[in-house]
Amino acid sequence: MGSEIRLTLLCDNYVQQPGLRAEHGLAILVEGPWGRVLLDTGQSRTAGHNADRLGIDLQSVGTVVLSHGHYDHTGGLREVLYRTGEVRVVAHPEAFAPKYVRLQETARERYIGVPFCREELESLGANFILSREAWALAEGLWVTGEVEREVAWEPADERLLVRENGLLSRDPLRDDLSLILVTSEGLILVLGCAHAGVVNIVQRAMELTACTRVRALIGGMHLVKAHAEFLEKTAGILEEWGVEQIVAAHCTGWMAGAFLRQRLGDRVRMGEVGQQWQFRV
Ligand SMILES: [Zn+2]
Ligand SMILES: [Zn+2]
Repeated sequence: MGSEIRLTLLCDNYVQQPGLRAEHGLAILVEGPWGRVLLDTGQSRTAGHNADRLGIDLQSVGTVVLSHGHYDHTGGLREVLYRTGEVRVVAHPEAFAPKYVRLQETARERYIGVPFCREELESLGANFILSREAWALAEGLWVTGEVEREVAWEPADERLLVRENGLLSRDPLRDDLSLILVTSEGLILVLGCAHAGVVNIVQRAMELTACTRVRALIGGMHLVKAHAEFLEKTAGILEEWGVEQIVAAHCTGWMAGAFLRQRLGDRVRMGEVGQQWQFRV
């Protein structure tokens, strides 16, 4: 890739191109001078299928980063491992915690954690590196590590739970990680679900890199259930920071995506499977 960075949306909730598939899930291939990194794997075989259809060979992926443990980001890992063989898999140690969602209609809980056991994934070639800390995978390529919830008005999703010591309680989702790409034109943030809150994540990225220009924000923003006041505050801060490009994918939701577009204009686009973006390093 030389002096270019390319991002490809391999799995997303929306699709328009014939032959490609969508599902509730996310996978973004990030290519740059440091090689190929895959953020998330979707929930099933979709990311693998779409990579095949787009002529992208995942065998050369050197690192898979799991943004968090939810099934819609980790469920495609087995299919990805079939293609990569032995590969480094980076995640937060709590990504493997037993995670649930409380369904409002029935007040029942459904398991939504990693749908494989770690041993199976290791037998397929996953070399896990589990860390809470921020660290540089390569020069100019960071994993945020655990993100402090500094902005209190970014509400946690009450439906998301974790089982600890036999008891279900609200999942703090400390395992939520994002990727930061540092370029000469500013930061590119690649988000999984942004459970830590978009504003908190951007703030963390700025602290880590000492860079305040945000070239692009691409990925899931988990705004499906966000109320208007929260969306307004988020949009206001993104505008104040001068975020240049926003791709609202996956769990951002159409309503929130449309709101951001109305508020921030053309710089906001909805994500869909097969989209690619190129940036200068
Ligand atoms: Zn999630
Ligand atoms: Zn998600």
